[in-house]
Amino acid sequence: MIHPREEYSSTYLIPYQEFFDKGYRAIIFDIDNTLVPHGAPADDRSRKLCRHLKDMGFSLCLLSNNHSRRVEPFAKELGTLYIASAAKPTKKGYLRAAELLHVDADQILFVGDQILTDIIGANRVGYYSILVAPIQKKEEIQIVLKRFLERIYLFFYRRSKKYKGDHPDRKRYEDNIPEEYR
Ligand SMILES: [Mg+2]
Repeated sequence: MIHPREEYSSTYLIPYQEFFDKGYRAIIFDIDNTLVPHGAPADDRSRKLCRHLKDMGFSLCLLSNNHSRRVEPFAKELGTLYIASAAKPTKKGYLRAAELLHVDADQILFVGDQILTDIIGANRVGYYSILVAPIQKKEEIQIVLKRFLERIYLFFYRRSKKYKGDHPDRKRYEDNIPEEYR
Protein backbone atom coordinates (compact mmCIF):
# COMPACT_ATOMS: atom_id res chain seq x y z
CA MET A 1 0.00 0.00 0.00
CA ILE A 2 1.31 3.39 -0.97
CA HIS A 3 -1.12 5.71 0.86
CA PRO A 4 0.12 7.43 3.97
CA ARG A 5 -2.42 7.01 6.77
CA GLU A 6 -2.29 10.76 7.32
CA GLU A 7 -0.51 13.74 5.84
CA TYR A 8 0.64 16.96 7.53
CA SER A 9 2.35 20.07 6.25
CA SER A 10 5.01 19.81 8.97
CA THR A 11 6.43 17.35 11.50
CA TYR A 12 5.87 20.16 13.98
CA LEU A 13 2.11 20.24 13.40
CA ILE A 14 1.22 16.62 14.07
CA PRO A 15 -1.23 16.29 17.01
CA TYR A 16 1.02 13.94 18.98
CA GLN A 17 -1.01 14.07 22.19
CA GLU A 18 -4.07 12.75 20.33
CA PHE A 19 -2.03 9.84 19.07
CA PHE A 20 -0.73 9.13 22.55
CA ASP A 21 -4.30 9.15 23.87
CA LYS A 22 -5.24 6.64 21.17
CA GLY A 23 -2.58 4.26 22.50
CA TYR A 24 0.48 4.98 20.37
CA ARG A 25 3.65 4.72 22.44
CA ALA A 26 6.60 5.05 20.04
CA ILE A 27 7.53 7.27 17.13
CA ILE A 28 10.04 6.49 14.42
CA PHE A 29 11.28 9.57 12.58
CA ASP A 30 13.08 9.99 9.31
CA ILE A 31 15.73 12.74 9.75
CA ASP A 32 16.51 14.63 6.55
CA ASN A 33 13.75 16.98 5.45
CA THR A 34 11.49 15.56 8.15
CA LEU A 35 13.06 16.90 11.38
CA VAL A 36 15.64 19.26 9.86
CA PRO A 37 16.73 20.38 6.35
CA HIS A 38 18.82 17.80 4.47
CA GLY A 39 22.20 17.36 6.15
CA ALA A 40 21.55 19.97 8.85
CA PRO A 41 22.50 19.38 12.49
CA ALA A 42 19.87 19.08 15.23
CA ASP A 43 18.34 22.47 15.89
CA ASP A 44 16.40 24.04 18.71
CA ARG A 45 12.96 22.98 17.61
CA SER A 46 13.93 19.38 16.92
CA ARG A 47 15.46 19.19 20.40
CA LYS A 48 12.33 20.72 21.95
CA LEU A 49 10.02 18.42 20.00
CA CYS A 50 11.89 15.30 21.12
CA ARG A 51 11.93 16.48 24.71
CA HIS A 52 8.19 17.16 24.67
CA LEU A 53 7.43 13.80 23.09
CA LYS A 54 9.51 11.97 25.67
CA ASP A 55 7.79 13.90 28.47
CA MET A 56 4.48 12.88 26.92
CA GLY A 57 5.55 9.26 27.26
CA PHE A 58 6.70 8.34 23.76
CA SER A 59 9.83 6.32 23.00
CA LEU A 60 11.71 7.66 19.98
CA CYS A 61 13.90 6.16 17.29
CA LEU A 62 15.44 7.68 14.17
CA LEU A 63 15.48 5.58 11.01
CA SER A 64 17.65 6.89 8.20
CA ASN A 65 19.16 5.64 4.98
CA ASN A 66 22.03 7.99 5.67
CA HIS A 67 25.29 6.60 7.11
CA SER A 68 26.06 6.50 10.83
CA ARG A 69 28.48 9.43 10.51
CA ARG A 70 25.41 11.53 9.94
CA VAL A 71 22.89 9.70 12.07
CA GLU A 72 24.75 8.84 15.28
CA PRO A 73 25.72 12.37 16.40
CA PHE A 74 22.24 13.59 15.44
CA ALA A 75 20.55 10.94 17.59
CA LYS A 76 22.93 11.62 20.44
CA GLU A 77 22.04 15.28 20.33
CA LEU A 78 18.30 14.49 20.50
CA GLY A 79 18.66 11.65 22.98
CA THR A 80 16.93 9.05 20.80
CA LEU A 81 17.60 5.54 19.58
CA TYR A 82 18.68 5.29 15.97
CA ILE A 83 19.29 3.03 12.99
CA ALA A 84 21.57 4.24 10.19
CA SER A 85 21.93 2.82 6.67
CA ALA A 86 18.41 1.49 7.09
CA ALA A 87 17.81 0.70 3.39
CA LYS A 88 14.21 1.95 3.52
CA PRO A 89 11.77 0.78 2.11
CA THR A 90 13.05 -2.70 3.04
CA LYS A 91 11.47 -4.04 6.22
CA LYS A 92 14.64 -4.84 8.14
CA GLY A 93 15.37 -1.43 9.70
CA TYR A 94 11.73 -0.86 10.62
CA LEU A 95 11.52 -4.22 12.39
CA ARG A 96 14.80 -3.63 14.19
CA ALA A 97 13.51 -0.23 15.35
CA ALA A 98 10.45 -1.89 16.93
CA GLU A 99 12.78 -4.32 18.75
CA LEU A 100 14.85 -1.44 20.12
CA LEU A 101 11.69 0.40 21.18
CA HIS A 102 10.10 -2.65 22.85
CA VAL A 103 6.65 -1.91 21.45
CA ASP A 104 4.17 -3.68 19.20
CA ALA A 105 3.66 -2.64 15.58
CA ASP A 106 0.23 -1.18 16.32
CA GLN A 107 1.69 1.23 18.89
CA ILE A 108 4.13 2.80 16.42
CA LEU A 109 3.82 6.03 14.46
CA PHE A 110 6.19 6.54 11.57
CA VAL A 111 6.90 10.08 10.32
CA GLY A 112 8.73 10.75 7.06
CA ASP A 113 8.79 13.00 3.98
CA GLN A 114 9.15 10.48 1.16
CA ILE A 115 6.45 8.17 -0.11
CA LEU A 116 8.69 5.83 -2.07
CA THR A 117 11.01 5.07 0.84
CA ASP A 118 9.55 6.16 4.20
CA ILE A 119 5.85 5.54 3.73
CA ILE A 120 5.95 2.36 1.66
CA GLY A 121 8.33 0.78 4.17
CA ALA A 122 6.22 1.77 7.17
CA ASN A 123 3.08 0.41 5.53
CA ARG A 124 4.77 -2.90 4.76
CA VAL A 125 5.35 -3.54 8.46
CA GLY A 126 2.00 -2.13 9.58
CA TYR A 127 3.15 1.04 11.37
CA TYR A 128 0.84 4.07 11.24
CA SER A 129 2.42 6.11 8.47
CA ILE A 130 2.42 9.90 8.49
CA LEU A 131 3.70 11.84 5.49
CA VAL A 132 5.00 15.37 6.05
CA ALA A 133 5.91 18.02 3.49
CA PRO A 134 9.70 18.22 3.07
CA ILE A 135 11.25 21.10 5.04
CA GLN A 136 13.51 22.16 2.21
CA LYS A 137 12.25 22.98 -1.24
CA LYS A 138 15.51 22.76 -3.17
CA GLU A 139 16.74 19.18 -3.32
CA GLU A 140 19.41 17.03 -4.83
CA ILE A 141 18.84 15.97 -8.43
CA GLN A 142 18.22 12.27 -7.64
CA ILE A 143 15.33 13.25 -5.40
CA VAL A 144 13.74 15.52 -7.99
CA LEU A 145 12.34 12.68 -10.13
CA LYS A 146 10.93 10.92 -7.09
CA ARG A 147 9.27 14.18 -6.06
CA PHE A 148 7.74 14.57 -9.50
CA LEU A 149 6.16 11.11 -9.25
CA GLU A 150 5.03 11.89 -5.72
CA ARG A 151 3.32 15.08 -6.84
CA ILE A 152 1.28 13.24 -9.45
CA TYR A 153 0.34 10.64 -6.87
CA LEU A 154 -0.49 13.21 -4.18
CA PHE A 155 -2.73 15.14 -6.54
CA PHE A 156 -5.04 12.13 -6.79
CA TYR A 157 -4.59 11.01 -3.19
CA ARG A 158 -5.60 14.40 -1.79
CA ARG A 159 -8.83 14.30 -3.81
CA SER A 160 -9.64 10.77 -2.67
CA LYS A 161 -11.92 9.72 0.19
CA LYS A 162 -8.95 8.11 1.94
CA TYR A 163 -7.32 11.48 2.59
CA LYS A 164 -6.68 12.42 6.20
CA GLY A 165 -4.52 15.23 7.59
CA ASP A 166 -4.27 18.99 7.45
CA HIS A 167 -4.54 20.91 4.20
CA PRO A 168 -1.23 20.64 2.35
CA ASP A 169 -0.85 24.35 1.82
CA ARG A 170 2.49 24.92 3.48
CA LYS A 171 2.48 28.70 3.42
CA ARG A 172 -0.76 28.91 5.30
CA TYR A 173 0.14 26.24 7.80
CA GLU A 174 3.62 27.36 8.65
CA ASP A 175 1.90 30.23 10.42
CA ASN A 176 0.18 27.67 12.61
CA ILE A 177 3.35 26.05 13.88
CA PRO A 178 3.52 26.70 17.63
CA GLU A 179 5.88 29.51 18.60
CA GLU A 180 8.21 27.11 20.42
CA TYR A 181 8.87 25.10 17.25
CA ARG A 182 9.71 28.05 14.99
MG1 LIG B 1 13.76 12.36 4.31
